[in-house]
Amino acid sequence: CGIFAYLNYLTPKSRQQVLDLLLQGLKRLEYRGYDSTGVAIDGASAGDDILLVRRIGKVKVLEDAIGEVCRGEGFNQPVDIHIGIAHTRWATHGVPSEVNSHPQRSDVENSFVVVHNGIITNYKDVKTLLEKRGYVFESETDTEVIAKLVHHLWQTHPGYTFGELVEQAIQQLEGAFAIAFKSKHFPGECVASRRGSPLLVGIKAKTKLATDHVPILYAKAHRPHGQPFPVLQAGSDGSAEFQPLEHKEVEYFFASDASAVIEHTNRVIYLEDDDVAAVKRDGTLSIHRLNKCTDDPHIREIITL
Ligand code: GLU
Repeated sequence: CGIFAYLNYLTPKSRQQVLDLLLQGLKRLEYRGYDSTGVAIDGASAGDDILLVRRIGKVKVLEDAIGEVCRGEGFNQPVDIHIGIAHTRWATHGVPSEVNSHPQRSDVENSFVVVHNGIITNYKDVKTLLEKRGYVFESETDTEVIAKLVHHLWQTHPGYTFGELVEQAIQQLEGAFAIAFKSKHFPGECVASRRGSPLLVGIKAKTKLATDHVPILYAKAHRPHGQPFPVLQAGSDGSAEFQPLEHKEVEYFFASDASAVIEHTNRVIYLEDDDVAAVKRDGTLSIHRLNKCTDDPHIREIITL
């Protein structure tokens, strides 16, 4: 099972090129084992819903399906910014089937879509809560609760950034996960996180990066519902000025393992448990944590493989 996400803020690429990159990434992760696959990309015309293509079987089956589904002008026209997320699934909850494949979604409009490796052990409790709030589940997976939980938080916490929504969601999840999100409400953005399952960020920049690390942005406290945002602080004592990684013309990758990104870049950040990595529409990457642990180095190094 594996996760591969591709974020393009570099040269205009067509959706077809983005799909090719996603398929290539999935092929590199095939050796990890899987029973089904899927991708999410933007629909072919402006205003279209996010498009999901999911299939049981090998990446080749997905590739053929994409060839059928993703045809026409819209897929060949260059777009400036594009986020695509992709997945190979090794079913733990729910049989291998199209509706149980990832990306899983928050609603029929594909508002929030997520790919997940791992197991959410308290998914039944979260599901019950969400069902009481009117959510109707379509899959048998534990993963679907993650997409719907973030959607619920988005509805109840207006003004939260995409990263903050995911940061809140993971506080309510137990078990193991590597996750990557895409949303029609946050176009051009991608948020990823992990606990127990591996996840790294690959960074490919046209010119030399100005830094070899990304500082961690800590939220001081939980935000009880309806309360104003806590002050975000950087570094151990809050004195360091927070700087996201800013770079013009950059491509990012989120992947379960380095073998999926090494053909694109050798610069990577290994995320730690409970890190939330968020890339904004301007191409800046920041890494948030809700809870500060004392032995944390307060930065994530950009490693050269
Ligand atoms: N538990 C999830 C599912 O069964 C994810 C499995 C995986 O890691 O691929 O859908």
